[in-house]
Amino acid sequence: MQTSFTDKQLQDKDNKTSETIIRKCVHCGMCNATCPTYQVNGEELEGPRGRIYLIKDMLENKKPATKEIAKHIDSCLSCYSCMTTCPSGVNYMHLIDHGRNYVNHLVFYFQNLLETH
Ligand code: SF4
Ligand code: SF4
Repeated sequence: MQTSFTDKQLQDKDNKTSETIIRKCVHCGMCNATCPTYQVNGEELEGPRGRIYLIKDMLENKKPATKEIAKHIDSCLSCYSCMTTCPSGVNYMHLIDHGRNYVNHLVFYFQNLLETH
């Protein structure tokens, strides 16, 4: 998957690791076949490939996590079944952890902002 992180963003070691991982993804969708949440919902954003795209978009564009995005990230069961079927060796575990940290950091930031105003 092509990425467009800036040099400044890549100075952050988590971004750098995520960028390297994201670039390994070839969009094949084989991971969706073994993802329980994708099997139940049949929605692209409820599978690993869709979540990788959401995480990439948030990180690259410093996007706030909307309720909808947070829902898709939260619903991942962290079973890592997707990692066993990925032919490109995408380290999904790092990406979902990074995505969750990003979402939680934003929630914490906005809570603080509300409390101080
Ligand atoms: S960790 Fe499990 S639930 Fe999450 S995307 Fe991978 S297969 Fe799906
Ligand atoms: S199986 Fe691997 S390479 Fe294929 S879409 Fe999923 S994460 Fe990307």
